[in-house]
Amino acid sequence: MLEELHGHTRRVGEVERQAEHAKEAATFAELTASFGGGWAALFVGSWLLAGLVMLPNTAWATVLALLVFAGPFFAVVVVGRRRLARIRARSDEGPRPVPVSCPGCGGQSELLPGQPVRACRYCGGALAADGPALEALIASAQAKLAGEQRLATEQRWRLAAKQGAAPRTDLVPFFVIGGIGGLWVVGAIVATIRVAFVGLGESSVGELALIDGVAVVLSLAVGTPLLRRRRRLQRWRAELEACAAERDAALSHRLDAFAEWLCVHWPGELGGRFIQSAVGYAFLAPRSGAAWALSVAPVAHADHGVEPHLRVLVPGSEGAHLSAAEAVLERAGFRVSAVEGGLVAELEVGGEGIVDSLERAAAQVEALRRGGVLAQLEPSGGQRQ
Ligand SMILES: [Zn+2]
Repeated sequence: MLEELHGHTRRVGEVERQAEHAKEAATFAELTASFGGGWAALFVGSWLLAGLVMLPNTAWATVLALLVFAGPFFAVVVVGRRRLARIRARSDEGPRPVPVSCPGCGGQSELLPGQPVRACRYCGGALAADGPALEALIASAQAKLAGEQRLATEQRWRLAAKQGAAPRTDLVPFFVIGGIGGLWVVGAIVATIRVAFVGLGESSVGELALIDGVAVVLSLAVGTPLLRRRRRLQRWRAELEACAAERDAALSHRLDAFAEWLCVHWPGELGGRFIQSAVGYAFLAPRSGAAWALSVAPVAHADHGVEPHLRVLVPGSEGAHLSAAEAVLERAGFRVSAVEGGLVAELEVGGEGIVDSLERAAAQVEALRRGGVLAQLEPSGGQRQ
């Protein structure tokens, strides 16, 4: 009996340690995710400010600059500790107690996994868990562990959604070239207006024509790709909206929507590498039920660790349902893999540059819609229109 209790305590101790680890992992992920991009801006801003403060080159200026430099680090520690305390203080459900009746007086008491022996509340006699009760206590500790692990997984998804948005924009080269070109164009307009009102003065017609010609070329060189990009992006959005309307699905362009859907509908693990977005990212999932979800990042750079992708996720563990879905997706050209929690079906978007990739992704979503692929994944088998 005593040996059995010792064995039990060891097993429960091991399970509780694992639950504690999972809880720490969840806490750490939540804390990390709570520091948004504003903090990065604060750090960069403080470095620039520290550089400015240091300019007078006196001892006091250096001290002040160091303080400005150290400020955000200090703030992170203070705010982080406060947030950590708040996360830890949140109500935490303990393991489910197991009811036992006292062999002496018959009164009902409760045992906890870590406390298989106690005194009876009514008669004070010794209450010890027997074989079945010990099993129930282990099951209770394991249920608590499973809960903590699930929470850790969900917080990791939310964190991945915060960190997986890269690259956020592909417009930087447009801004750089457009900024320089814009100055030239403004200069050319001013020069032309001047000539119109004041006359040519010292410059020749040829010079003015050259200045204006370069301005026109610059405008076209920046404007044309920007306009094409805009049109593709609009067509891409329109295709998504058509798909969402047809399947009565919610459309989002944020990774958070994907993470929240996973928390509610995905029964297993899913690696953070799947939770990535880039320009044009879209997430689609039916408003009712959870037969499928579509995650598309048409424009992403593989060298940034993000790959252009179109993925269909089918949650579930039921064999017949999943193999039917697998057949449908493979017929549509997807590479399907079974993971913990369901199916992940992938289609390479590929394409050279943003315009090309958006076009390909739009065509792929259109093919899915017209082929009724998403409809076939739904329980009604595509009857709904
Ligand atoms: Zn009793």
